Amino acid sequence: MTVRTGAIYLVGAGPGDPKLITVRGREILESADAVVHDRLISQGLLELARADARIENVGKAPGREGPSQGEINDLLINLARSGYTVCRLKGGDPFVFGRGGEEVLAGRAAGVYVEVVPGVSSALAGPASAGVPVTHRGLSSSVTVVTGHEEPGARNGSVDWNVIAQVQGSIVIMMGVAHIDAIARALVVSGRSSDESVCVVERATCPNQRVIFGTLGTIGEVAQSSMIENPATIVIGVAVDTLADRAEL
Ligand code: SAH
Repeated sequence: MTVRTGAIYLVGAGPGDPKLITVRGREILESADAVVHDRLISQGLLELARADARIENVGKAPGREGPSQGEINDLLINLARSGYTVCRLKGGDPFVFGRGGEEVLAGRAAGVYVEVVPGVSSALAGPASAGVPVTHRGLSSSVTVVTGHEEPGARNGSVDWNVIAQVQGSIVIMMGVAHIDAIARALVVSGRSSDESVCVVERATCPNQRVIFGTLGTIGEVAQSSMIENPATIVIGVAVDTLADRAEL
């Protein structure tokens, strides 16, 4: 497979460990003229870029807003139009809560060739790296991936926790650290058992990965006392009890 000039490649970087990028993603990263990356991209991956590649960090950081989505789109398009091969390196998979779709639409509307290279999403790699099988024969037949970014019950919210609670199987929550207590309460109010297991995987696949366990009834308190930080993926359901390695408890 070739890598084209004047094109934008949306490359999924994987969840954290630099070895979890795909072979195709690495090929593009190594040959790109410009690398435009999010905040959570590991140094180990950025070191794979060509020494003369232009590197742009467009991520938000605590205390730093970062460029708007419109500015990022314009940067990608301008670089491609200047003849650069652009590697837009995004955490996990580009299309899982990464606004990748907007970047593809903007690039295509500008007449630029855009290709998407899937990545290993932390939605699945987070639980897996903690030993949690999100589906398990006889125990969990589905997995629902949902954002925890919104305050449960907020007006004009896009997530109906009552509906999420009715779906049997595992629930994976991303961007949910700030609202973990309120989300757990909302699920219990909607009928999930307060004894149901919860596992929080912080910095999954990174050297400082941390796995914290609780139940829907306790996780709010546990999250506070163990000072859970972003990035973290939360997984809820009976599958948590099957294989998870609780040695860290
Ligand atoms: N596109 C990304 C997700 C972007 S949203 C993907 O597919 O993985 C950002 C959220 O992803 C974080 O709030 C967190 O919930 C999750 N996340 C990203 N990296 C993570 C990691 N190393 N460990 C645990 N969760 C992670």
